[in-house]
Amino acid sequence: MAEIQKVIVIGSGPAGWSAALYLARAQLQPLLFAGEKSGGQLMLTTVIENYPGFPQGIQGPDLMIAMREQAEHFGTVVQDANVTRVDFSQKPLKVWASTGKSGAEELYQAESVLISTGAESVWLGVPGEEKFIGRGVSTCAVCDAAFFKQKKTIVVGGGDAAMEDALALTKFAESVLVVHRRDSFRASKIMVQRVTEHPKVKVLWNSTIKEIKGDTKVTGVVVEDMNSHTTQELPMDGVFVAIGHKPSTVLFEKQIQLDEKGFVVTRFALGSASLALAQSSLIDTFIQYLTMTSVDGVFAAGDVVDFTYKQAATAAGYGVMAALDIEKWLEMKEMGLAK
Ligand code: NAP
Repeated sequence: MAEIQKVIVIGSGPAGWSAALYLARAQLQPLLFAGEKSGGQLMLTTVIENYPGFPQGIQGPDLMIAMREQAEHFGTVVQDANVTRVDFSQKPLKVWASTGKSGAEELYQAESVLISTGAESVWLGVPGEEKFIGRGVSTCAVCDAAFFKQKKTIVVGGGDAAMEDALALTKFAESVLVVHRRDSFRASKIMVQRVTEHPKVKVLWNSTIKEIKGDTKVTGVVVEDMNSHTTQELPMDGVFVAIGHKPSTVLFEKQIQLDEKGFVVTRFALGSASLALAQSSLIDTFIQYLTMTSVDGVFAAGDVVDFTYKQAATAAGYGVMAALDIEKWLEMKEMGLAK
């Protein structure tokens, strides 16, 4: 039978590496499954200017490599393999990964597990989109708006993220066009009001982007009116896609509580399901182990939980919180004070 680890970390973005660093320094010898493609979303980005500590900015992949080296330096054992399934119905917790010969499945067991598998942006899937990621196409205006000073920008989507992106862009861009596939936004009223009343913002209803054009960077978009099916080409410098995020949680369906969009529910309330879980975890006057999921010993951190902030720095901080919760929970368990 496989040896029982103190803690297994699944996922290798900022949340996973930060947690592993803390867990390793706490002498818990974390085993981290990094996936076949280690590093998460930041491996797809270019320069990051809003991660503290790098006044000149840092390339996303360089930041991930540095985080990995730091976690390994203190004793994190890393497996560059995919987790293929889990069983959290009994203790020890079970995790299978493709670490065997020719990628065969092998069983690992642990007292605790941290889920930090992140979330992926949903993309439009139109010609030019993938080609110009980082060269005019972005899914994070908070990160990239400053690169579009006095430029023409377009935001796709009608939810709160699209409204937030549009507002972030108004601080820098010459113009912000919000293009939405219906004739009303689903975002909260206050956000819609702020966007639609802003002098730099125009809205194009019932419309969608059909193609993103450019040479070395984005130069224009082809927009289709969904009622008349007519198209027009608009000169554009920046395209911000804000049509939602998809958490990487297929592995955890039926194992832990997920919300209606598939994000992991923890006691750290971001939605109504989290609030209910937090309330049920109230001990005296405070909630213990904020990063714990609906299953004792299973914790979650980063974008797999967080559909609001979605920043590298918040994910890293979230990972640290989870590591401290796990350390404390394992101590309590050893003392017979946790399940
Ligand atoms: P969302 O609420 O699911 O909105 C996604 C938007 O994209 C919708 O308007 C949708 O159109 C549109 N869309 C989806 N697929 C599309 C496609 N293929 N082509 C064109 N448009 C498409 O996602 P979100 O804005 O990322 O927000 C996610 C959650 O986080 C929400 O609960 C939101 O309230 C929350 N959030 C909160 C804040 C805040 O409070 N400050 C900030 C950001 C996010 P339809 O409307 O037609 O479906």
